[in-house]
Amino acid sequence: MEQKSKEKKKKNNTWKYILAIVIIFIALADAYVIFLDSNKKMKTRDIFEDVEKTEASLTEYIVYGTHLRIKGNLLIDNENIQNINLCLMTINKKDLEAELKYTKTANGIEFYTSEFINEGIDLEQLDINEYYAIIKVNKTDGKSQYYSIKNQTDYPSIEYYTITKNGKNNKIDIKFGQKVYDYMMLQVKNTYLPKDVYDIAIDAGHGGGDPGAEYGGYREADLALKCAKEVKQELEKLDLKVMITRDGTEGKEYNAGTVYKENGRINIIGKSKAKYVFSIHLNSIDKPNSQSGVEIYAPPKMNLDFAKAFANNIVKYANTNYSTLDIRYKVSNGIYVRTFKDWEIQDSINEAKTKGYKPYDMTEETPYLYMLRETGGIATGAYVDGRNAQYGKNLFYDSNIGLEAYLLEIGYINNDNDLNNILNNNSGYVKGIVQTIKEKINID
Ligand SMILES: [Zn+2]
Repeated sequence: MEQKSKEKKKKNNTWKYILAIVIIFIALADAYVIFLDSNKKMKTRDIFEDVEKTEASLTEYIVYGTHLRIKGNLLIDNENIQNINLCLMTINKKDLEAELKYTKTANGIEFYTSEFINEGIDLEQLDINEYYAIIKVNKTDGKSQYYSIKNQTDYPSIEYYTITKNGKNNKIDIKFGQKVYDYMMLQVKNTYLPKDVYDIAIDAGHGGGDPGAEYGGYREADLALKCAKEVKQELEKLDLKVMITRDGTEGKEYNAGTVYKENGRINIIGKSKAKYVFSIHLNSIDKPNSQSGVEIYAPPKMNLDFAKAFANNIVKYANTNYSTLDIRYKVSNGIYVRTFKDWEIQDSINEAKTKGYKPYDMTEETPYLYMLRETGGIATGAYVDGRNAQYGKNLFYDSNIGLEAYLLEIGYINNDNDLNNILNNNSGYVKGIVQTIKEKINID
């Protein structure tokens, strides 16, 4: 008996020890979580330490090409403002700061990154870190006020993958949350490029049942494809991941009427999640040999440096000339920005009435060329939303992520000099195009 009860006691004690250890372990784990939490709060407090109670309202945020564009308003006393900056604040104080543009409103200010859609925060330049976006208002008396940002748009967080450089990519999550204050954050991490994400999309104009312009037995579709394929090859030599809209195997059923089909060129460009799309064409004019040279088309409200580099480099490397076409929408040598004219908008409204759908929301600032308009999402006023059943639907018409787009008319197919040059010196055109892309996306 004696023996047994002793054993029982021993067993009881063992259980007590185990229980004690478990309790200590739980307590330690709790303490650790509290420590981590307080650490987080401390860090959060650092960022939001000087933030005012009023929050800035974000009314627009768009990624177009490689740039993040924001717009918003702030209900503050708008007197004595020196300037307004966007601070990207990090816990380890590797902050970035850039000046914002602003206008005074009745009860505050409206701020925005740039009037150009391809300017703003260059996402390619961000280092790996977590950046909190804070609006900093500098007053004329030298004092500054800080405001956190609350998302008032219909768009939730987005993911952005940087262009492949040295075989590397970053992923940037642009997201919103709430700690003590609402906040906007850009979280940059190193990652691999997912299978379905490309750096660049190349569009070879026309194709399949659509030959494009024809002259002297040559078809625009074939010459554009030859140039586009070589551009793709050269870009791939730079380690870029390039998607091409067609490869010449497309059948007759592929034509101008299939642009907005599920696998039509607009939707596959959207699905590519590329940062840029370059569409290659040859021009044509009613009277052969009456015009010649290079025309680069860009959407409106753009910084045109990229477009200008295309025009300059193609002229230089292909030994050709800027287009001789002198027209209302010519901006500078070789650069053209074509938007809808008043009567074209009226035509579109009339068509909608006849067919019984609500007219598209287009203005004289809407890009005329569908390739430049529809690939940019809301940044460029894409509108093919399926209401005209005949056309199909751009699945990305209301996206706040768009591709920066350029349409390159490399020369006139019905100009004998241009045609000869394109036939005999294709590599010169390719070099002009590839050189521009290299320069503009910073790849050596
Ligand atoms: Zn064309």
